[in-house]
Amino acid sequence: MFSQEAEVVVIGGGVVGSATAYFLAKENKNVVLIEKGHSAGEASGGNAAWVWSLTRKAGIDITLAMHSISIHQQLQAELELDFEYRASGGLMIMDAENQVPFVKEHLDQREKDGHPLEMVDAKQVLEIEPMLNRDRILGGVWNPVDGTTNPILLVASLNREAEKLGVQIHHHTEVKGIDVSQGRVKSVTTNRGTIKTDCVVNAAGSWAGHIGKMVGITVPVSPFQMAMLVTERIPRCIFHPIMGASYMVEEDTGKEGGLGSGLIASQQVSGNLLLGACWRDAGFDKRTIQEEIERIAIVNIEAMPSLKDIRVIRSFANFFPHTLDDLPILGPVEGVEGFIMASGHNGHGICLGPGSGKLVAELLCTGNTSVPIEELKLERSALSVE
Ligand SMILES: Cc1cc2nc3c(=O)[nH]c(=O)nc-3n(C[C@H](O)[C@H](O)[C@H](O)COP(=O)(O)OP(=O)(O)OC[C@H]3O[C@@H](n4cnc5c(N)ncnc54)[C@H](O)[C@@H]3O)c2cc1C
Repeated sequence: MFSQEAEVVVIGGGVVGSATAYFLAKENKNVVLIEKGHSAGEASGGNAAWVWSLTRKAGIDITLAMHSISIHQQLQAELELDFEYRASGGLMIMDAENQVPFVKEHLDQREKDGHPLEMVDAKQVLEIEPMLNRDRILGGVWNPVDGTTNPILLVASLNREAEKLGVQIHHHTEVKGIDVSQGRVKSVTTNRGTIKTDCVVNAAGSWAGHIGKMVGITVPVSPFQMAMLVTERIPRCIFHPIMGASYMVEEDTGKEGGLGSGLIASQQVSGNLLLGACWRDAGFDKRTIQEEIERIAIVNIEAMPSLKDIRVIRSFANFFPHTLDDLPILGPVEGVEGFIMASGHNGHGICLGPGSGKLVAELLCTGNTSVPIEELKLERSALSVE
């Protein structure tokens, strides 16, 4: 039966919306979750699956990541289904001299902010990940709190527990409009009917701007594409998520219209390797191109030459919800009472999603959040200045 009324309507069945619905239901809220496709059918189901904080910057960026990692741990203890969260530790490797000052600056800033990281030498890097190419490694950074998960199982697990707590989840149901009267949310209209509510959470990921338009506001979130390769299942050979430090130097490559690439590699519990990545501004296009596939293979084989004999079974691309300052948009919106933002998690939403869901639930249940989110509001100036 289709829901007629709810205390909160959450739009989007990705990791952010699913976590929000779960944490609200735990506080006895009457929640309806609306998803136009199926849960984890978009970015939350097609990504690198890292729960990663090593490259998060000092300030609110790392604060959010550390908070959310603690929520992943909490979920691992309380959700029934194992979602393969493994806090193995994470490694960033340096293979070019120009990366060193950027990495050192990052470590300095993190240290000053109370979130230190450990610099490791080439020998230690090779002890941590023996498959890496010993001729190329200059050194690295180790972070014991990072790891990987299975985001599809995470979302499935959140949805399953939320349903047990009474959340109504409507898949293949698209939000078409939101009625706002005298500055307050009144109802949400979908292709299957209208739900009376005075609270809507916009967890629509890359479509957050479309939902914003329904209440007359601009939400500066845009899709940004990232492509990856998946290999056949092989015995464990990569023990931790590995990132190349070129990300610290060339972060913006590709955002100006070109194709960016850098090393990311990890191995799922299933034995498949997830290898990346290339990125480009391709709107809502999920197709991979030959150049991306070749570049990802080259970057990974240079870093780990023995990969040349491993079969790739598929490539995929997806897009993440991009904001100009690389931070999510969380919290209420001026002038539209009852409209709450929970979008724009960029390339970090698997890590940040559970924490964001918890914070939004706290906000709606108590009016406060355990991590201050004022600087993540929609009205911040960093969202409109490049
Ligand atoms: C290749 C790639 C690798 C990545 N790797 C990582 C990583 O390793 N670690 C990490 O932390 N992050 C990673 N990310 C980023 C992460 O995947 C995203 O930030 C995260 O999944 C966003 O979650 P979300 O719930 O906000 O959005 P989504 O998962 O996109 O969910 C939004 C949902 O809203 C639904 N929706 C939209 N409009 C409507 C409507 N009108 N009505 C109903 N439903 C609607 C959509 O169908 C969608 O399912 C990666 C992203 C990509 C693309």
